[in-house]
Amino acid sequence: MTYKAEYIWIDGTEPTARLRSKTRILPTGAELPTWGFDGSSTNQAEGHSSDCVLKPVFSCPDPIRGGAHVLVLCEVYGVDGRPHSSNTRAALLDVAEQYADQEMWFGIEQEYTFFKDGRPYGFPVGGGFPGPQGPYYCGIGADEVVGRDIVEAHLDACLTAGLAISGINAEVMPGQWEFQVGPAGPVEVADHLWMARYLLYRIAEDFGVSATLDPKPAKGDWNGAGAHTNFSTRAMREGYDPIIAACESLGAPGKVEEHIAGYGFGIEGRLTGQHETAPYNVFSYGVSDRGASVRIPWQVEVDKKGYLEDRRPNANVDPYVVTRLITNTVCEALAKADMV
Ligand code: ADP
Ligand code: MN
Ligand code: MN
Ligand code: MN
Repeated sequence: MTYKAEYIWIDGTEPTARLRSKTRILPTGAELPTWGFDGSSTNQAEGHSSDCVLKPVFSCPDPIRGGAHVLVLCEVYGVDGRPHSSNTRAALLDVAEQYADQEMWFGIEQEYTFFKDGRPYGFPVGGGFPGPQGPYYCGIGADEVVGRDIVEAHLDACLTAGLAISGINAEVMPGQWEFQVGPAGPVEVADHLWMARYLLYRIAEDFGVSATLDPKPAKGDWNGAGAHTNFSTRAMREGYDPIIAACESLGAPGKVEEHIAGYGFGIEGRLTGQHETAPYNVFSYGVSDRGASVRIPWQVEVDKKGYLEDRRPNANVDPYVVTRLITNTVCEALAKADMV
């Protein structure tokens, strides 16, 4: 007897990496072995020295194949045994371990857009545009919503896989949707988000539709796609001073540029100051303010404790990078201020 293991990894495509996967048949009961692939076909190696190594780091039931079949998320290593330059998970592990005592939790809101025949799913087939934004966000009905069958199939698949998915909603632009992953620790939330992205692409494929994380899929008066990143340390969940200190740490000199550089390619085109965004180069925070870089949810101000929402990350952000940057910046500042 055998089972199928779908090995999934993040490639070296610039400026935004893609997911790749291939199948390995294993004897029933066998552990997941280290494997390899041709890095010259994934922007991860030169043809004359093309072998890259796949190291399994997270696996879950495969909801598409069912049975005993599994999905296997991998880190990429060189044959020298060192993390490949495209391997952003390895760097996150160090930071997550360094600040593990602060018990950082993340909840990431993954927005995305369906495309069919070269245009956003639901945009008129003959060209042109649907009616202006307004009724689509959390809409119901065939005149306002497209792709719900795919979205429901994806939600069920994530639940069957045991991923920490916590909700879904239709977004402001037609054909645009969101799912949320978390709250969970920095490494876990990022592993689960990559796996949920894999399932999204894979399931939409069966419907003849492609899902994209393009941060600005339709130019003009249409919302972009983000990955709002909610986070809290234990101290933030217990009091308000750490909430404010965390906001201040993200606006400290040098931090705005460092974070924006890691929040996804094309961020300047999305964080324009319009469409519920703050300009990418000006840091701000405020209660209930969806035009700020960082929002303090109203309930958090009432309770005087809770979490923050960094609204800046693009839909195409690497979750290993955004959780590393926020953990490093916020936990370093809270440790210095003795707010642990
Ligand atoms: P929005 O109102 O911005 O659309 P969502 O409901 O889509 O917010 O997403 C909020 C996210 O915040 C969820 O993923 C949720 O799990 C996460 N979250 C809630 N509480 C915390 C917390 N204390 N720490 C980190 N994340 C949290
Ligand atoms: Mn949301
Ligand atoms: Mn949203
Ligand atoms: Mn949000």
